[in-house]
Amino acid sequence: NRKILLASRPVGMPDESNFEFIEENVPELQDGEVLIRSLYLSVDPYMRGRMSAAKSYAKPYEVGQPFKGGVVGKVVESKNSRFEAGQYVDGLLEWAEYNVSDGSGLRRLNPEMAPVTTALHVLGMPGLTAYFGLLYIGEPKEGETVVVSGASGAVGTVVGQIAKLKGCRVVGIAGGDDKCAYLTEELGFDAAINYKAEENLRKALKEACPNGVDVYFDNVGGHVSDAVMSLINFQSRTAICGQISQYNADKPPVGPRVAGQLLTTSSLMKGFIVSDYAQHNKECLAQLAQWVREGKIKYRETIVEGFDNTIDAFLGLFRGDNIGKQLVKVAEE
Ligand code: NDP
Repeated sequence: NRKILLASRPVGMPDESNFEFIEENVPELQDGEVLIRSLYLSVDPYMRGRMSAAKSYAKPYEVGQPFKGGVVGKVVESKNSRFEAGQYVDGLLEWAEYNVSDGSGLRRLNPEMAPVTTALHVLGMPGLTAYFGLLYIGEPKEGETVVVSGASGAVGTVVGQIAKLKGCRVVGIAGGDDKCAYLTEELGFDAAINYKAEENLRKALKEACPNGVDVYFDNVGGHVSDAVMSLINFQSRTAICGQISQYNADKPPVGPRVAGQLLTTSSLMKGFIVSDYAQHNKECLAQLAQWVREGKIKYRETIVEGFDNTIDAFLGLFRGDNIGKQLVKVAEE
């Protein structure tokens, strides 16, 4: 059974030397345990934070210990009455080909309801993140303008589509013309801006948001957010979901100060963690599942094949390799 451990804590952008592959025997199952074959691993930006020792909302990974994250797998053997061999499950498990679990936190998946991979994005943590941040903090109203950064990723694509369902003008910011075309042509965004190609991002945004910005869903921070914040309207709402442009920074960012902007527009800016709203998970997942079934929310996956390529898939998040959710396929369903 191969596993990936944290070998050392990175400074700046992680590289292969921060990870180590090891091989171990699968332990004998004890009563109450299940053995799960990994099918898909989720690689997520927040894992970069957990590689550092700095205090954050999620506990740091320990050096010498396996990475943990979202995994979809199949039960191959069970000594737990809640599970039987052949069932699909997802849970927070090790980056490993096999996991032994006592069943706590494992969710049974029904492949007839939705492809099992969706449990790792639109019908899982990223989907919940999009829903809570947009609807509970952004509170978009019909006719308002919603801007989302990191727009073509797992969270951003869901944010924009929900905002469209709420009758808003939706503008996405993403790093590539192919990504922008996907947003406007396939997901129904009103406009999309390639921040990597725009010399004057503020000007491009201003053209795309002739009525200013009422809701900003921020996945990236940095200069992209500076440009958006300069265009916020009276009583705008900004949900701080992520700051991926800063995750590999070794110094604190320098940028315009936004307090004055918030003051003069009576605006709200609020950070959140998806688990803040956990009491609403069930109803929210039911709503997302309905929208997916009705074709109102579409999704895309970028799948890297093979456990050996997990690290590259993870690092690819910081290069912008993915459109939609980045997954690693470890074994055939
Ligand atoms: P994505 O699928 O969006 O993948 C990451 C994307 O970030 C890349 O594709 C890339 O797209 C973009 N990116 C990478 N580096 C930069 C940069 N320097 N500047 C701007 N954009 C960059 O990931 P997720 O949807 O899973 O996560 C999106 C954000 O939401 C992250 O910041 C994550 O930490 C946060 N998050 C927060 C949660 C919470 O509870 N608060 C829960 C889940 C996620 P591009 O080509 O556009 O640059």
